[in-house]
Amino acid sequence: MTDYVIVGNGAAGTHAAEAIRKEDGGGRITLVTDEDLPFYYRIRLNELISGDVAEADLLAKKEAWYRDQNIDLRTSTRVDGGDAKKKTLVTADGQELGYDRLLLATGSHSFVPPIKGSEKKGVFALRSVQDARDIASWAKKAETVVLIGGGLLGLETGNGLRKAGKQVTVVEFFPRLLPRQLDVDGAGRLQQIMEEMGFSFRLGAKTEEIRGEDAVTAVLLEGGEKLSADMVVISAGVRPNMELAEPLGLNHDKGIQVNERLETNQPHIYAAGDAAEFRGMPYGIWPAAMEQGKIAGTNMAGGDLTYGGTTMANTLKVVGVDLASAGNIDVENELDSRTLSDEEIYKKIVLENGRIVGCIMLGDTKGFNQVTKAMSEKTDVSAVKDEILREGFDFKSL
Ligand SMILES: Cc1cc2nc3c(=O)[nH]c(=O)nc-3n(C[C@H](O)[C@H](O)[C@H](O)COP(=O)(O)OP(=O)(O)OC[C@H]3O[C@@H](n4cnc5c(N)ncnc54)[C@H](O)[C@@H]3O)c2cc1C
Repeated sequence: MTDYVIVGNGAAGTHAAEAIRKEDGGGRITLVTDEDLPFYYRIRLNELISGDVAEADLLAKKEAWYRDQNIDLRTSTRVDGGDAKKKTLVTADGQELGYDRLLLATGSHSFVPPIKGSEKKGVFALRSVQDARDIASWAKKAETVVLIGGGLLGLETGNGLRKAGKQVTVVEFFPRLLPRQLDVDGAGRLQQIMEEMGFSFRLGAKTEEIRGEDAVTAVLLEGGEKLSADMVVISAGVRPNMELAEPLGLNHDKGIQVNERLETNQPHIYAAGDAAEFRGMPYGIWPAAMEQGKIAGTNMAGGDLTYGGTTMANTLKVVGVDLASAGNIDVENELDSRTLSDEEIYKKIVLENGRIVGCIMLGDTKGFNQVTKAMSEKTDVSAVKDEILREGFDFKSL
């Protein structure tokens, strides 16, 4: 009987476990996580902060699923080290776990840049359900919030807090919002919409210091402006969790490096999801974690699937703002692109050799799935490229 051990029960780890069970009905599957919940929708943590949902509503798998699938889920258990020669892992409380096949699906953590004062009480970053609990709890006694970082996650966290009645100011180093998802025109539109919702923005602004005695009271920007703050949320990107790469002798750089079968350089050890680097890239998105987990799990159990990459696509989950963006959005306007802009919407598709390589849809995301599918499949759209953004275009024809 094969012993499968998976570290991390997020989208990658859970989809891997499911795939292993499909291939191997009798193998022993142990799923280890340092968090205290079964698999949950990490991407919906902002709804917990705003108070829109209870924790139980975030669960994607209940205890019964693990029982039915005969998966041994060990919550609140951290893996601290391992030995690839002996094929063992060691947990923080000293248990040894042997494996025949191992998957590292350890995800990523929030990157906190070295800002003076970031260790003060009332300064947070959002990654885990525990972070969301801490943020929601502190927010009860806070009125003003400063968010450092105007990326997708920052805006969504800010929206969670705005809905909970807080006054939110977003500080972004770039001169526009969502620098990786929006070009100048799109970002300007989004800013206007969000200002109407009650957000304040400081763009092209750098935080100099987080001030306060024990707990935060203000954020000082370079140039001297002081923003009053009862709490601060830093949202400056993520970094893969690679602590186990060294002890296990795994090649790693931006993430744990894997080939197209999701294998690392050590026999019988795989990596998937945010923790993995594939062709120089850690993806950091849920669909990639799901797909990689499924492929890694299948291969661990003797199957033969290959991974070719996932189209980078993002949607902003803020009610009242329809925004989706994917691929190369051609910020410098150097490629062949088509735009459509009126009072309500801003849309752009970017083309290269007759194929769509990027798109922005703000105000109306109809057709986004078909467009990203055409991007992934490299469909030749030369014949319809001038019509795609026209009213009434049949996206199914792509
Ligand atoms: C608030 C928020 C909103 C997001 N919104 C979106 C979105 O809209 N769209 C999108 O595509 N992506 C979104 N993301 C990113 C998405 O959540 C991740 O890409 C995805 O969760 C990655 O899944 P994963 O399984 O690789 O890792 P994770 O979900 O991070 O799971 C890894 C698990 O492993 C555990 N772990 C790590 N190390 C150890 C160890 N040594 N021992 C035991 N356990 C360990 C971690 O605690 C964690 O539970 C969002 C992320 C956040 C935080």
